[in-house]
Amino acid sequence: MIEVANLSKRFDTLTVLKDINLSVRAKEIVVLLGPSGSGKSTLLRCLNGLEEADAGSIRVGSVLLDSSMTGSAKKNAIRALRGLTGMVFQSFNLFPHLTALENVITAPVTVKNMPKPQAIELAESLLSKVGLAEKKHEYPSRLSGGQQQRVAIARALAMQPQIMLFDEPTSALDPELTGEVLLVMRQLAEEGMTMIVVTHEMKFAQEVANRVIFMSEGIIQEEGAPEHFFAQPQTERARKFLRQMA
Ligand code: ADP
Ligand code: MG
Repeated sequence: MIEVANLSKRFDTLTVLKDINLSVRAKEIVVLLGPSGSGKSTLLRCLNGLEEADAGSIRVGSVLLDSSMTGSAKKNAIRALRGLTGMVFQSFNLFPHLTALENVITAPVTVKNMPKPQAIELAESLLSKVGLAEKKHEYPSRLSGGQQQRVAIARALAMQPQIMLFDEPTSALDPELTGEVLLVMRQLAEEGMTMIVVTHEMKFAQEVANRVIFMSEGIIQEEGAPEHFFAQPQTERARKFLRQMA
């Protein structure tokens, strides 16, 4: 489903991703762990075309974005990547002047030209799915952080992506609101959504991930099944990270 080959990314003189190679199978749940500044967000942003890599390639489904591409071929590949990947950020990023329902229908209507009645029907079913059917006419400011993040998940799902990318989706939430967001993510995983999740929720990683990838300093330091990674991390860097998380 996803194939990343020799991906590198620099910001000025700082190399943030160093020759990343990664494949993700359909329906796989990959949890991406690593200390702050290790390049996790940059990797997710490259996967959905928010950042451009300096070298290497990304294939998602049948869409290939290679760093050697230029002009309209590149533009089309980036647009296609965005359509295939849904992204959920730490800071929900809802439109504050739109209701929950309006937040969810905006992209299908404006980007996909979906007829409004159909978009509303889709949005209502997605808001029920994340447990917010009765909040559809509320504005974000009247919703809790956990509810706002669940609207953000429904909004990403409304574009019917093949892959969901989550960048620390619960890091801005009070602990009592984290569970409701993780529950929605578990349900998505059970339904067979392909997901890459950056999180510090170790319990979620242990229980939901098929594979854990540990990054530091722009490199994939190790990866493996969660039962192996958590029981026997191979690198000192990962052991130190896990001690700090405990
Ligand atoms: P993580 O998500 O693992 O904390 P990031 O991918 O956000 O790491 O950042 C990796 C490194 O890249 C950090 O040193 C960060 O300061 C730097 N960085 C990220 N985005 C930018 C940017 N737009 N411009 C300059 N440096 C950036
Ligand atoms: Mg980050």
